[in-house]
Amino acid sequence: MYDAIIIGAGASGLVCAINLARGGKSVAIIEAQKRGGKKILASGNGHCNIANANVSTKNFYGKNSKLIEEIVKVKPAQIVEFFNTLGLEIVTKDDGKMYPKSMQASIVLELLEAEIDRLNISKFYEVKELNIKRGFEVSFNNSTIKANNLIIATGSQAAPQLGGNSSGLEIAKNFNHTIIPQIPALVPLISSHPICKSLAGVKVKAKVRLFSNDKELSSQIGDFLFAKYGVSGLSILDLSLKANLALEKNRCHIIVDFFSDYSKQTLLEYLKSRIDKKRDLKLQLWLGAIINSKLSEYLLKELKLDEKSEAKLNSKLLKEIVEHFKNYRIEISGSREFKYAEVAYGGVDSREIDSKTMQSKKEKNLYFIGEVIDTVGDRGGYNFHFAWSSAVLCSSYCLGVPKSCVQ
Ligand SMILES: Cc1cc2nc3c(=O)[nH]c(=O)nc-3n(C[C@H](O)[C@H](O)[C@H](O)COP(=O)(O)OP(=O)(O)OC[C@H]3O[C@@H](n4cnc5c(N)ncnc54)[C@H](O)[C@@H]3O)c2cc1C
Repeated sequence: MYDAIIIGAGASGLVCAINLARGGKSVAIIEAQKRGGKKILASGNGHCNIANANVSTKNFYGKNSKLIEEIVKVKPAQIVEFFNTLGLEIVTKDDGKMYPKSMQASIVLELLEAEIDRLNISKFYEVKELNIKRGFEVSFNNSTIKANNLIIATGSQAAPQLGGNSSGLEIAKNFNHTIIPQIPALVPLISSHPICKSLAGVKVKAKVRLFSNDKELSSQIGDFLFAKYGVSGLSILDLSLKANLALEKNRCHIIVDFFSDYSKQTLLEYLKSRIDKKRDLKLQLWLGAIINSKLSEYLLKELKLDEKSEAKLNSKLLKEIVEHFKNYRIEISGSREFKYAEVAYGGVDSREIDSKTMQSKKEKNLYFIGEVIDTVGDRGGYNFHFAWSSAVLCSSYCLGVPKSCVQ
């Protein structure tokens, strides 16, 4: 009989297991794959953006604002302290993003795994045909183990190639929990606008404004990438959750400003100042010198100005160019599927989870931690913050000690 069985050896499950075992509890961890934590390995483009120094409730989206408040009470310094006890050094970049000093995601997982082994936590990996009975009795691969507490840390459906699936939601349903349907987040968006296919692979810096039924919802400045299926880049990933939520009821479009460093007026004046009648360059060459040439060629063609030269420019044409390059409309029809998403919004309804302990309000001694819960964070280390912090809240409650003592 274990004190706790944890299902899922990913970010939240591993930290929870370590905290419980350090507090003297007997723990078994069950994992579907040969090795857990595959999302940690892939995270932050292999660098693992482990947390963010500037965490606030505004960085999270879920049904239970009280739970989000508790999650941000676990401070980044506490997360750093925990990882320091594993031997990991963490650095904070100017924008608040935190990474392992070596900038290698692999070391984060290796140190967590080393601690799991040092603490003699029972590991059951590559489990199949999981069956859970109240009490708790967990059967798999022809064996059965029992525990007083059951912790579900199975993650979300995002990135199935890294272990993402919906099994945690099925378990929650069997305990009468409500499920908020999961949708992909931090994901590229789909558009049939011909510019996407024509310029696939072209990446620029832009300001992107997201509109739902002509009402502006949000904006981002950053990488913007054209792709065969639509649009991507960090600016799009950051807007994707709001787009996907809006698309459930409304039409959506983005307005892209390819000259985000300039106001319309300053851009107009700047372009005027660049006119050199002696050289009289073709507009394509003239603009291609200051903005991606494939992009300028495409946009000038749309204005039917590609054959013109700078000598032909007058105020009206300059204004047309400014308007077109700073207010480019692209309709959005959806997002790419879970395979291309970093995270998922939706999951076990967080209003049915006690915000201080992560315990189910439907079943005593049943807990949910990490991304299986409906709450999702912004890009920038916030999703790991949620995984680690929910694990800390759960393990400190199971241990009966204040969370500040869990290290
Ligand atoms: C490509 C990519 C990059 C990312 N980069 C970042 C980043 O830099 N910073 C950041 O904050 N977030 C990042 N994230 C998000 C972050 O990885 C997740 O939010 C976090 O891993 C969620 O932790 P979790 O414990 O809830 O789930 P997971 O880490 O997904 O772990 C769940 C585990 O449960 C196992 N499992 C599932 N079902 C079962 C079952 N039925 N039985 C047994 N085991 C099961 C899975 O195999 C998996 O090992 C990234 C995600 C992806 C996909």
